[in-house]
Amino acid sequence: MAVLVTEPPATVLAVYAHPDDPDVSAGGTLSRWAAAGAAVHVCICADGDKGSSDPATDPADLVARRRLEVAASGQILGVKAHHWLGFRDGELDDDRELRARLVALVREVRPDAVIAPDPTAIYFGQHYVNHRDHRVVGWAALDAVSPAAANPHYFPDLGPSHAVRVVYLSGTLEPDVWVDISATIDIKAAAIACHASQVGESDEWLRGAVRQRAEEAGREATVGFAEAYRRLFL
Ligand SMILES: [Zn+2]
Repeated sequence: MAVLVTEPPATVLAVYAHPDDPDVSAGGTLSRWAAAGAAVHVCICADGDKGSSDPATDPADLVARRRLEVAASGQILGVKAHHWLGFRDGELDDDRELRARLVALVREVRPDAVIAPDPTAIYFGQHYVNHRDHRVVGWAALDAVSPAAANPHYFPDLGPSHAVRVVYLSGTLEPDVWVDISATIDIKAAAIACHASQVGESDEWLRGAVRQRAEEAGREATVGFAEAYRRLFL
């Protein structure tokens, strides 16, 4: 019997690698929780400077464009604040620096729930290796939350400790909970469409693709549209 998450957290922090990742991975959940009154914070670790295969693209121009895309999508989803860590694509490491930045943010935002990529998901079928930045951010977010942010002896200069209650891992191969996003599927599609530098296809095609993926997750949860997660209670 599929477990549906119905209670929104008071404050949620979504931690992702690239500017479009939160919307693709958890946009329906974030907008549903925002509509229910949650304070939704989004952390983007890398700037998205390599999000183009055209050698003529200027990385600085692309970063500027992607900041605007995120601002537009955040308005649609109801994001309260974006937190940019400013790393370059492909240059993220699960090291002390990244963990310190995430611990500082967790202690500042003090979320009940954190959403992040499942770092154990490496191969999706036979054609996609999960991006290294996604895996790195998943591990760093988990390590930052447990035990570092919760233990005052880790990074004692980075603010008072804070224990996150629950973590939802997206892009997981082992989902155990689902969020019904039937009410926000169109908002999710509209948010993803804001990332025009990444999603070149027509609006209609994109909408169809987003709906189809959420419909597949919804089937597992016996609802119209869903996002799937692996949940950890800490
Ligand atoms: Zn990404």
